[in-house]
Amino acid sequence: MNKNVRELKTLTSGIPATDGNGVKLTRIIGSSELNMLDPFLLFDAFESDQGQDYIGGFPDHPHRGFETVTYLLAGRMRHKDSAGHQGVIEPGGVQWMTAGRGIVHSEMPEQTDGLLQGFQLWVNLPANEKMQAPSYQEYPFNDIAVEHLDNGTEVRVIAGSTNNGTIGPVINHYVNPIYLDVFLLKGQTFEQTVDADDNVFIFVIEGALSVGNSKHQIRHRQLGILGDGNQAVVTANETSRFLLAAARPLKEPIARGGPFVMNSKEEVLQAFDDFHHNRF
Ligand code: MN
Repeated sequence: MNKNVRELKTLTSGIPATDGNGVKLTRIIGSSELNMLDPFLLFDAFESDQGQDYIGGFPDHPHRGFETVTYLLAGRMRHKDSAGHQGVIEPGGVQWMTAGRGIVHSEMPEQTDGLLQGFQLWVNLPANEKMQAPSYQEYPFNDIAVEHLDNGTEVRVIAGSTNNGTIGPVINHYVNPIYLDVFLLKGQTFEQTVDADDNVFIFVIEGALSVGNSKHQIRHRQLGILGDGNQAVVTANETSRFLLAAARPLKEPIARGGPFVMNSKEEVLQAFDDFHHNRF
């Protein structure tokens, strides 16, 4: 296979936003700056050690038509839903929820102060899977696959496979996602093979990276969308931690209505109607 190294195409820092009951966050995908990166509909980063920034949490709200992925780095979040499912997500844990035809859930901080830091990613479902029964894949820190490389790199594999064959626990055949949390020492390079069709982004949690051969930089808290190619190659300008996400675009029509993401406006209106008549 020819190696076509992806270069940095777009850089964005997102916009400050509030969601749920007043939770302060940065909306990086799903904002006026970057509407979507098919199949990624939304990417929020939240990070605060001030209780008032997150204490309101995300009380009961519905979803239909896609998957919500919560990945926590610090703090604790309790989730509870209309299917009787509940639990606490702790640092390093992930909840990959397939909302399917509908779920009503809450995500509330299990703390009143201290650092709460994490991410929520929305991954679209193909049209013929949007009305499936809701389901979950939940993995605490210890169940996330970890790869340690000789150069000091640590890769936590939530979904997909690394170049060395470490496979993450999340199963998703709809868009074959790769979702990695990578720690990379200064001066070291990390390579990840991706499908040439995939959309790929990198979000820098700490440090600064340069991408591809052109060495364009992605700084702390910036999200970089990579261009065409089948290899993501990043070098740490400083010791860094970053997320790498890749998935197959669905290339289907999108109709959004708040917590519902369908293919047509009629389907979104149906979702509101079903929700208001307790048909979730
Ligand atoms: Mn939600």
